[in-house]
Amino acid sequence: MKNQALWIIMLSGLLVAQTRQTTRSKSLVFTHITIIDATGAPAKADMAVVITGDRIRQLAKSGEIRVPRDAQVVDATGKFLIPGLWDMHVHTLRKGRPEMFFPLFLANGVTGVRDMGGDLLEQTRQLRKQISDGILPGLRIVTPGPVLDGPKQVSSFSIGVANEIEARQTVDSLKEQGVDFIKLYSLLPRDVYFAIANEATKQGLPFSGHVPYSVSAAEASDAGQTSIEHLSGVLLACSTAEAELRKALAEAMTRADATASLPKLVRTQTRQVLETFSDQKAAELLARFSRNHTWQCPTLVVLRAFAFLDASDLSDDARLKYIPFSMRERWNPKGHLRAENGTPEDLANSKKVFQKELEIVRAMRLAGLKFLAGTDAPTPNVFPGFGLHDELRLLVSAGLTPMEALQAATRNAATYLGLLDSLGTVEKGKIADLVLLEGNPLDDISNTQKIAAVVLGGKLISKFSLQSMLAEVERMANKK
Ligand SMILES: [Zn+2]
Repeated sequence: MKNQALWIIMLSGLLVAQTRQTTRSKSLVFTHITIIDATGAPAKADMAVVITGDRIRQLAKSGEIRVPRDAQVVDATGKFLIPGLWDMHVHTLRKGRPEMFFPLFLANGVTGVRDMGGDLLEQTRQLRKQISDGILPGLRIVTPGPVLDGPKQVSSFSIGVANEIEARQTVDSLKEQGVDFIKLYSLLPRDVYFAIANEATKQGLPFSGHVPYSVSAAEASDAGQTSIEHLSGVLLACSTAEAELRKALAEAMTRADATASLPKLVRTQTRQVLETFSDQKAAELLARFSRNHTWQCPTLVVLRAFAFLDASDLSDDARLKYIPFSMRERWNPKGHLRAENGTPEDLANSKKVFQKELEIVRAMRLAGLKFLAGTDAPTPNVFPGFGLHDELRLLVSAGLTPMEALQAATRNAATYLGLLDSLGTVEKGKIADLVLLEGNPLDDISNTQKIAAVVLGGKLISKFSLQSMLAEVERMANKK
């Protein structure tokens, strides 16, 4: 409870100065701005945007706009306007994290997050209500509460589900608590997975997450899993040895030391998976994803972080100063379990796996699959906020156009979440969650990092305010 109070004070404190400035004038107007609306339409130069309250009220050529009386007019010559960004895979709803990481999101133009498992469900519910009631400006948050794993509980933010009855009870109870969806994890037994899938569907709750080892990616897609995270189970499902490899996984899952031994087995198996990769199986799998509308949230940034764990040296990464001391220690590759336990062959293989993952994303795009941009922050070497821009660059390097990458973090996110009516693009009538950029992201996707200002629910947050947020996070992160 103490934690929650701190969080709310933090968010209101940061934004209150800006709120005062903008409530004095009724509307916020940008003139001479280039709009990249993320509908897929080309950039529109020399436009004007009128924002009143939390909504976009007018969009027109600069000379054709009716400027409301008392409006705050910002000449945005040379600037580009995009929708607020969504990071569709984060873990920030845990004790101590929102106050550290929410400002990092905002400072990076991330105005919404899909949390993928945390333990602050009740606090989040209250916070969200205050945001939606307009009492508090804040990030838009979608959350499943804790993740479902099994058969035993493995962390403070997971629920261990052992059988079909527990599966149905847990889904019903989470539904009652107001979660937005169900998040699945890797160790779910097969019968439990299908019971969760069935009950969630009955309750009208989407279910999403990892493809558990006990289920194939094709089966997960057929069962109605709405999104696959981290490409989990995807390469395995493209292997001609899938049946045999999954049998070994199923056996390992029943052993007492499953939590420790499984990652090792999975690592050994990835070598076989690459050797037995079948283009035909891949094509069939992607066609199935397409038929079932299974979304992909590849989180390339975390896949890369793990693949290059031994090779990464973060000591000269300027962003490290925003990561709390206690967490930085865990980010040290030398102390990281995955780097420590891997043989040199494992570590070399992990880089090949990452190359294959980039290739499969390219193939998914050609097969017409829909992507979500997510990061898995704050997993080691994945910076909250900043990491989303890394992900956009990686999506482009995998073959998406800059527009497609941008849409993965805007329009697609809103579509996936059923929020496209009010969010996800720059269009008349939508909520004004926006980012002003100093460079054209369609020319170079890394221009999404050149943030001049953010608009959150119609409130302008200046570059100066965003930098103050970063400075405050830096101060907190370095307090011993
Ligand atoms: Zn995750």
